[in-house]
Amino acid sequence: MYIVSSCLLGQNCKYNGGNNRCQEVIDFCEQKKYITVCPESAAKLPCPRPPAERVGDRVVNNRGKDVTAAFEKGAQLSLGTCTTLASFSGAELKGAILKANSPSCGCGFIYDGTFSGTLTEGNGVFTELLLKEGIPVITEKETETIKKWLAEE
Ligand code: SF4
Repeated sequence: MYIVSSCLLGQNCKYNGGNNRCQEVIDFCEQKKYITVCPESAAKLPCPRPPAERVGDRVVNNRGKDVTAAFEKGAQLSLGTCTTLASFSGAELKGAILKANSPSCGCGFIYDGTFSGTLTEGNGVFTELLLKEGIPVITEKETETIKKWLAEE
């Protein structure tokens, strides 16, 4: 069973009220068991909401408000949902395909906290939690790994 960012499947949970629909991820989900989560929605953050970026260990929105606690809570709640659903269905959490560059879901690179579209090395808050749990995380941009996971049992 795989974890997938809700916005990649077309759910309008992105900060601006839109989504990040990705056909390759949709095709993947047609063939694999998956759980869809949006950590920022799980934290009951409004939609739309001000964009936020990681600044060191904190998450701050473009109005200067520290939203770290909400992001951490959303990540924990989302992980709880995933582990509960996987355990109910007797499945292992094999990996996660999350939205690139997001302060929650980014993996490898995230926006650098200047709200200028500049990327820096790092992971989103939810991604960090999954990696600590030993769950492999990729983004929708890693198409070769998506194909590899599709070919696996
Ligand atoms: S990137 Fe993650 S937190 Fe942001 S809208 Fe998509 S699923 Fe939600």
